[in-house]
Amino acid sequence: MLAAVLYGKEDLRLEEVAEPTPAAGEVVIQVGAATTCGTDLKVWRRGGHAKMLQPPTLFGHEAAGKIVALGEGVTNWEEGQRVVGNNSAPCMKCFFCEKQEYSLCPNLTWNNGTFAQYLKIPAPIVEHNLLAIPDELPYPLAAMTEPLACVLHGISRSNVQPGDKVVVLGDGAIGLMFVAKLVYDYGAEVILFGGNDKRLEIGEEFGASNTYNYHKAKNIGTLVKKVTSGWGADVVIEATGVPSVWETAISLVRPGGTVNLFGGCPPDTNITVDTEQLHYSELTVKGVFHNTPHFVREALELITSRRTPFNLMVSERRPLRDLQKVLSDMRDRKVLKVAMIP
Ligand SMILES: [Zn+2]
Ligand SMILES: [Zn+2]
Repeated sequence: MLAAVLYGKEDLRLEEVAEPTPAAGEVVIQVGAATTCGTDLKVWRRGGHAKMLQPPTLFGHEAAGKIVALGEGVTNWEEGQRVVGNNSAPCMKCFFCEKQEYSLCPNLTWNNGTFAQYLKIPAPIVEHNLLAIPDELPYPLAAMTEPLACVLHGISRSNVQPGDKVVVLGDGAIGLMFVAKLVYDYGAEVILFGGNDKRLEIGEEFGASNTYNYHKAKNIGTLVKKVTSGWGADVVIEATGVPSVWETAISLVRPGGTVNLFGGCPPDTNITVDTEQLHYSELTVKGVFHNTPHFVREALELITSRRTPFNLMVSERRPLRDLQKVLSDMRDRKVLKVAMIP
């Protein structure tokens, strides 16, 4: 089969590799669509990811497709079923899993290799994070279950109250999904900052009250004060993974507010925090990582309900052979999310 293999920094090759066969507890799907993600871009540029994968490796982590083979002992799935699998599953046995803090599980089983004709789903994912999708749901939409699950997990830990004024920093797919969920389900007034006018337009379609291109904005702090109570935002969501933007995020929140540092930064980076602001303004500053089985299910339900036009986020469909070019286009911010069709 044709598959993308990552060898190192910006070194991705499409190769003929052996088709996977399922071992006990596993299933193999024929990939219907695999969506690209900001994380793919990050991993491609850095040539690896401390938690998720080490090269050389099959690549890609968002996909939906059809089951074509079942391993021994898999009794609750059938060939031909349309499914979406999360890219990880917790072990369900460790210290953190027992506390139901699944995203902290040190034994997460990761799955990479969605940019291929076939994808093997490891047994723990089959057991905990493989979901059937309705017949009428297109594969590219279903494939967005994983990133949306991360966003729902992020929002659940951000202390958002109905009607809050929320600043979102970052107009990538994750930032835009935050906007959609905050507006539709929390009635939040969202102020979105990004660097790309086309993406900011999608933010507006998702219901952001104010959008700003940070290349053109003179003083973000003053702008945020003007459109909030004068004190800053109730909640700030950082979705870029840039240390200086983490610092900006903390500077924009009101006393008593919450800052969610959602975008993962490169290894060995640091930020500086104003201790006086942190203490006397009683800030809650937190990191939130990845997703959990509960939010994987909730994400698929939200996508299936079609309450939010998530289809706006898929810029185009492209054949798998174009993957290298698509990643370059993502780097140059020409496309947002692309559905790769094997
Ligand atoms: Zn992703
Ligand atoms: Zn665990």
